[in-house]
Amino acid sequence: MPRNADAPGVVTISRRGAERLRGGHVWVYRSDILAAKDILPGALVTVRSTVEGGRPPRSSQILGSAFYSTSSEIALRMVAAKPVGDLNLLVRDRIRAAIAYRERFVRNTNACRMIFSEADFLPGLIVDRYKDILSLQILTQAMDSAPMREVVVSELQECLKPAAILEMVDPRVRRLEQLKDKERGLISGVKTSTEFEMNGVRFIYEGLGGQKTGAFLDQRENYAAVTQYARGEALDLFCYQGGFAVHLAKAKTCSRVTGVDSSRPALEIAERNAALNEIEVEWIEANAFDLLRDYADAGRKYDCIVLDPPAFARSRQNLETALRGYKELNLRALQMLRSGGILVSCSCSYHVGAADLLGTVLAAALDSHRTVRLLENRGQSKDHPRVLGIAETGYLKCLVLLVT
Ligand code: SAH
Repeated sequence: MPRNADAPGVVTISRRGAERLRGGHVWVYRSDILAAKDILPGALVTVRSTVEGGRPPRSSQILGSAFYSTSSEIALRMVAAKPVGDLNLLVRDRIRAAIAYRERFVRNTNACRMIFSEADFLPGLIVDRYKDILSLQILTQAMDSAPMREVVVSELQECLKPAAILEMVDPRVRRLEQLKDKERGLISGVKTSTEFEMNGVRFIYEGLGGQKTGAFLDQRENYAAVTQYARGEALDLFCYQGGFAVHLAKAKTCSRVTGVDSSRPALEIAERNAALNEIEVEWIEANAFDLLRDYADAGRKYDCIVLDPPAFARSRQNLETALRGYKELNLRALQMLRSGGILVSCSCSYHVGAADLLGTVLAAALDSHRTVRLLENRGQSKDHPRVLGIAETGYLKCLVLLVT
């Protein structure tokens, strides 16, 4: 058989695709696939680079093993830089390594992201821990296969001994991967709610009620950082279940805390979180844009404002619209901050870079004639690792700013 003919279980990729992998990335887009014959959804395949033309022809190079998706634009997600013999063993090792990483770097909490997909070299798998409950999300065909699920679940049970494992489902992701519709629910155990702690603050986790995401664990270290600076009257916009607001109210440096969100179920949990910590927060169900405009027009003033909106830029195409949204929020917030006040400006859009967000805050500062100093340029908590070479693993920005 000629060396470059299609071999079973082998996917040949373009030079551009191979270069991306050599740069440390782990994705190959469908447009860089040259040959993938009869490959089943979610199969583990051997990846090789294209055979160069010329005389004598250069032989192709094996680049490693990857999970194949028949439907996603991300056709290949690399799992190892050499061919994998025993996939189950590899996955078990990776799970144990992910847990060991958290044991080493995560402090002051019994809730954190235990496995973060590509950032833990387990593409398509996310596992969050809320004290004794694990919340699992499957994002790819490969991870959704019955044998892979069994390996993952049994290893998690063995290592972490959770009271229950819940599966969260993102119907949009399942449609994109052409996976069968599925309801979220219990995989093991019966417990679906619990209480967890971070930074000495208590929170409720409702795995099957309310909203589907649990807490925003990626902000955990930022909650602790922001309480160092905040004081006086604080406003937490897009507060969800009160991550920032409850930390601020508990910190005692803030005299009064208001949390605003448009989701009633999120605010119901927020109220219970406040009660659990024996603190008072005023919760307002409103559109944050409308409320900011009204409050700014009415001349309301605050000493600390937190802006943590949902991802406005879902793709590079709507970056400009997204930046207009961030600008408006930051401008109103700056207008409402007293001199010496703290602005916490977050963005969880991967497509909005730190420089984009800083530029937007500067534009808002110039328009509102305020001077802004950067106290901290922060990102996501360490349980959401950022891998150099896989830019998408870093997505959260959290700027802590002093406004005069
Ligand atoms: N700061 C939160 C996370 C915020 S997530 C934490 O640390 O836990 C974004 C939140 O914005 C969600 O709770 C969502 O309900 C809310 N949201 C989305 N659009 C909104 C709007 N226009 N006005 C107010 N809240 C909004």
